[in-house]
Amino acid sequence: MATILISGGTIIDPANDRHGPFDLLVADGRIARLAAPGEAGEADEVVDAAGCWVVPGLIDMHVHLREPGYEYKETVQSGAQAALAGGFTAVACMANTNPVNDTGAVTKYIVEKAVAADLARVYPIGALSVGLKGERLAEIGEMHEAGIVAVSDDGRPVMDSALMRHALEYSAMFDLAVIAHEEDLALAGEGCMNEGPTAFRLGLKGMPSAAEEAMVARDIALLERTGGRLHIAHASTAGTVDLVRRAKARGLAVTAEAAPHHFTLTEDAVGAYDTNAKMAPPLRLANDVQAIIEGLRDGTIDAIATDHAPHHRDEKDVEFDAAANGIVGLETALPLCLALVREHGVTIDTLIRALSVNPARILGVPGGSLAEGSTADVTVVDPDAAWQVEPERFHSKARNTPFGGWAMTGLARATIVGGVVKWRLLVPAATRRKRSAAR
Ligand SMILES: [Zn+2]
Repeated sequence: MATILISGGTIIDPANDRHGPFDLLVADGRIARLAAPGEAGEADEVVDAAGCWVVPGLIDMHVHLREPGYEYKETVQSGAQAALAGGFTAVACMANTNPVNDTGAVTKYIVEKAVAADLARVYPIGALSVGLKGERLAEIGEMHEAGIVAVSDDGRPVMDSALMRHALEYSAMFDLAVIAHEEDLALAGEGCMNEGPTAFRLGLKGMPSAAEEAMVARDIALLERTGGRLHIAHASTAGTVDLVRRAKARGLAVTAEAAPHHFTLTEDAVGAYDTNAKMAPPLRLANDVQAIIEGLRDGTIDAIATDHAPHHRDEKDVEFDAAANGIVGLETALPLCLALVREHGVTIDTLIRALSVNPARILGVPGGSLAEGSTADVTVVDPDAAWQVEPERFHSKARNTPFGGWAMTGLARATIVGGVVKWRLLVPAATRRKRSAAR
């Protein structure tokens, strides 16, 4: 295995309280040495990190890879490639495939696909209920043996409170987090966007914030009795942030994630029925966006996860209320996250906690640290590179993004998994564009 020297960068390693100019030597898949610039030694391969931040590999704990069953939208291979391009060394994929990942056999299938792809790490999340039907518990023990890192019916809420209680109790035996998609289906009704002024203007049915908050409150109440670990997926409202903050203050084992679109966009992005701004939970209002950013700033929200949800063009090129929910996120997340640091007073250390340290801890997977001896999953982030989002150039199979054409700042210059450079952008995209324009 080739040794790698990552030289000239600024190390940001909040798990070990390290922040400054260091060179990093990688050997045998591990961080071998961290030393003052020029003093880490020689290597077979050099990654020039001048002007870059060298951070523990980013981990996206909430993606949909669509395999098995919907390979026309995305595969483990294409999703893991998109992850690398976005700076993610690992992703955790939800169970709403076909067949659903509710048995050890399906879990094993996904793990094998990931090994064959040999790109970003892929960790399957097991279904909470058989077939995501919300009726009885899936084979959690069997899936745990096959490699799941959490349990979730994501895509659908668990409406049966007793089932949720049992899931929390049972998952605790394996120290697996239960990831909750919080949506009261009766309250959400036929809503296809946020219940608010934009839905009123467009004549669309809305889903109220309370559809999310009522379920968050329920699950916190259950957690208080069951023990175990509850993780709130894609927090989208100010009320959810407040509920999580108060539950944490009481010492409960609750964690939460937010998606870049929920701290970047409001319901205004729906504009004139743009189906690329349709997702569940929906884009909300400016005060919700502010509350999520504040939640990230003060640690109430532990993780940033994209909820990467690839769809085929035909599933989005339809009337708004008929369009599929969700957007792709892996290849646009990093610059949207860096904007939090530039514009919203989130420190870079807090950001790296949310993108690496905390997801690793919540899922119980390697990563989140650049300590000597730890697994060499590393992302080299160029925080200043300017580029433009061109969905046609995504590595994902899907193009459903509301960020097409956006001017972005920041990208992954190199993504290193297990001590191997799996993604490398030698010349930042913006520079390349300028050069070709000059010809
Ligand atoms: Zn969800």
